[in-house]
Amino acid sequence: MRERILKILRGYDLNNVKIATLGSHSALNILRGAKDEGFETICICKNAEKDVYRNFGVADRLLEVESFGELLSKEIQEFLRNENAILIPHGSFNAYIGKFDSLEVPIFGNRKLMEYETSREKQREWLRRANVRVPKLFSSPDEIDRLCIVKYQGAKGGRGYFLASSPEDFRRKAESMVKKGLVTREEIKGAEIQEYVIGASVYFSFFYSPVNQRMELIALDRRYEHVDGIGRIPAEEQLKLQLEPTYTIIGNFPLVLRESLLSQAFQVADRIFEVSKEIAYPGMVGPFCIETIFTDKAELVVFEISARIVAGTNAGIPNSPYSYILFGENMYMGRRIAREIRIAIEKGMIEELIY
Ligand code: AMP
Ligand code: AMP
Repeated sequence: MRERILKILRGYDLNNVKIATLGSHSALNILRGAKDEGFETICICKNAEKDVYRNFGVADRLLEVESFGELLSKEIQEFLRNENAILIPHGSFNAYIGKFDSLEVPIFGNRKLMEYETSREKQREWLRRANVRVPKLFSSPDEIDRLCIVKYQGAKGGRGYFLASSPEDFRRKAESMVKKGLVTREEIKGAEIQEYVIGASVYFSFFYSPVNQRMELIALDRRYEHVDGIGRIPAEEQLKLQLEPTYTIIGNFPLVLRESLLSQAFQVADRIFEVSKEIAYPGMVGPFCIETIFTDKAELVVFEISARIVAGTNAGIPNSPYSYILFGENMYMGRRIAREIRIAIEKGMIEELIY
């Protein structure tokens, strides 16, 4: 596969590369970043969202599709190759496509690692080998003996996640989630049951730069979810209503961390990076996110990795405190990706970024 992609890339006019992505998730971030670095852009979007991308003026070319799965069609792939397009993957690539074997268009980053997101077992193995602290895992609902969070495979954005503190609690809430149409029975069967780690969640967006050969912290965020609305209702009313909050993502807040906690995050990022080289050579390229919770002892627990840009970086446009400190200018994940591509083309290193 890699050889085929490199062959396609070698046929590209590198003075005329365009940046392309699917119109959702972090497309505004990616496309704005591409334009800031002087690239022309292509946005593949659905009719309902076309106006968003047109209104913001970040897409030089809008390509309308019925569904994102059409990215795998012969016509669209051929169009993208003819335009010398490099695709920037994001959460919708995982949520709506998942497998990239038949995608014969150069992708920025390591497509093998991106597929790890669709398998929690593989993620777990990656984290285990990196020797980082993770939440305890329960292999069956019958084992639940403490507060747990129930999650599903892939980039589901927290939809249908729920908390359970006993096997009975699990069954009752799972049934209710299915009835509400938030999840399917199949998803419940394949669900991952994790110990609920009590603490403050922090999402670290790193960028590994082959051009600079360094790990860069670009931005931090935390999430704004359906469950966050519950705190606005007094406890008495909550009990009366028997609320069943879920973790459906609505947005993100930017964040800065107590400075003395940064070193833990860099150590974890380096270990995750080292293992990524062993499990999917050449390892992490470009953006990835380490999703963590700091416990009462301010120790970092990792509950997930995303091997691509995450939507939390949208809150870091035009810069985060960290990207500003690093670059001394406006820098955000979409722009950071485009900058890496631009410099790699100038230095003749582009093949190191494309998988
Ligand atoms: P959307 O097009 O908004 O449905 O997003 C595509 C996929 O990315 C879905 O699976 C979403 O759940 C996920 N997603 C979108 N925005 C975010 C976000 N801010 N944080 C986490 N996941 C997200
Ligand atoms: P995720 O989709 O895995 O990024 O998680 C969505 C939401 O669930 C976020 O609010 C996380 O903070 C929360 N979450 C996920 N896993 C855990 C865990 N093991 N303990 C506590 N909160 C979690």
